[in-house]
Amino acid sequence: MSDRQYPDQSDSKPHQQDVPGADAPQATNPSPNRADSTAPADDAWERVTNRMRQDIGEAAWRNWIKPLRVSRLEDGTLILEASSMLARERVTSQYADRLRVISAAEYGTVRKVEISLASHQAPRMSQQKRAASNTGAQAGGPLGAGLDPRYTFANFVVGKPNELAFAVARRTAESATVAFNPLFLYGGVGLGKTHLMHAIAWHIREQDPSRHVVYLSAEKFMYRFVQALRFRDTMSFKEQFRSVDVLMIDDVQFISGKDSTQEEFFHTFNALVEDGRQVIVSADKSPTDLEGLEERLRSRLGWGMVADIHPADYELRLGILQAKAERARIAVPDKVLEFLAHRISSNVRELEGALTRIAAHASLVGREITIDSAAELLTDLLRASSRQVSIDEIQKRVAAHYDVRVAEMFSARRARNIARPRQVAMYLAKTLTSFSYPEIGRQFGGRDHTTVMHAVRTIESLVSSDKRIAEDVQLLRSLIAS
Ligand code: ADP
Ligand code: MG
Repeated sequence: MSDRQYPDQSDSKPHQQDVPGADAPQATNPSPNRADSTAPADDAWERVTNRMRQDIGEAAWRNWIKPLRVSRLEDGTLILEASSMLARERVTSQYADRLRVISAAEYGTVRKVEISLASHQAPRMSQQKRAASNTGAQAGGPLGAGLDPRYTFANFVVGKPNELAFAVARRTAESATVAFNPLFLYGGVGLGKTHLMHAIAWHIREQDPSRHVVYLSAEKFMYRFVQALRFRDTMSFKEQFRSVDVLMIDDVQFISGKDSTQEEFFHTFNALVEDGRQVIVSADKSPTDLEGLEERLRSRLGWGMVADIHPADYELRLGILQAKAERARIAVPDKVLEFLAHRISSNVRELEGALTRIAAHASLVGREITIDSAAELLTDLLRASSRQVSIDEIQKRVAAHYDVRVAEMFSARRARNIARPRQVAMYLAKTLTSFSYPEIGRQFGGRDHTTVMHAVRTIESLVSSDKRIAEDVQLLRSLIAS
């Protein structure tokens, strides 16, 4: 049992980092003798570096983190010494965020991390100061703040529902040139779009800090644009964006409606793409389904690579829970994790919330968590996604509604008047239960999972184009879910 409950979670505002800029070394303040300064913090530092090693991989860790020395801990600021100017700059621009979050968790008292130069290196510093701060600004960039240090590829659990999105995200991050342009990631709430975008940004920063990566929510993008309009400074607004190598805009569905912002987005977007810069966009729907977006923008967004993230199925939910429990070092019996994976919806954020709560509880009462105690602790969460709807029940309701025999749900007949109700039932099974595509296929007369996926997509699109189907689905949904 561990008393560590999602330490990173305590920090949900990564952009409020207190990491100093590249020109904050303490040249006039040589660090004290190493032997006495590290003494109180050794254990915690050991844990910090171990976690960093897991997060960033062996090679990067050996190059940049392992050589760091704890200088001192002062008023909540952990001061680390780097052995060279280059190392200091690298660590400051790429790892300081993560070091701060992890140190905060492991030391308990750390709020800030500063990287200074080991004292024997200090005299060289002033000459190189300028160069260092330039690079720092490029990598960090005023537009690029706000990346969550937990959102890395290493922390992303891959399963069937997200493997395509993961693969293209990785490819985009790894290629030195523009891979897919634009890369359009879409999927429902809490399925990992933002996580993947941050992961791309982290990866690029790590590989090539000179590439100027900018990550923005669509809301921020609009806010900046409106501000620029107010101050009649749209020129420099454009310049800011046009100088980036990789532009990421998260949740573009929020750009819909505002005509002038759409217009600006469209032009910025075109300028970047034509200039061979990588553009990455996320949304909650596919480009064609983005309502409120101008037609030309919608079609433009779909030109590159479009990858969707499907709701997490049981296997993926379980995988995520296992990974998160392990990472946070919370001891939760497998049975309990399986129970949670079964009973909590596909929204990964809710899974995380459940785990955090269980961990907090376990550390307070100091007793091993059981299925019963988990169920009791999470009544509200489970209620939302529970009322375990069975596929059986869905099939009966749908058959009755369309006046076909329940047996047709399993039959091989493909006549429209039978196939359509069957597709509706599959769609409802997917959206109202937590069964995976293969599981649903099995319950519909042993059909292949691709048949189910096709059915779900067909009904999804019919719901927006065919009023009758939309009404059927709505009615059935309310009958079944009530
Ligand atoms: P979205 O942007 O699609 O709404 P997020 O990227 O914010 O979703 O993900 C919600 C939460 O779930 C985040 O804490 C994220 O780290 C986590 N998450 C989502 N998918 C995964 C995954 N496959 N592996 C690990 N964590 C995930
Ligand atoms: Mg998001």
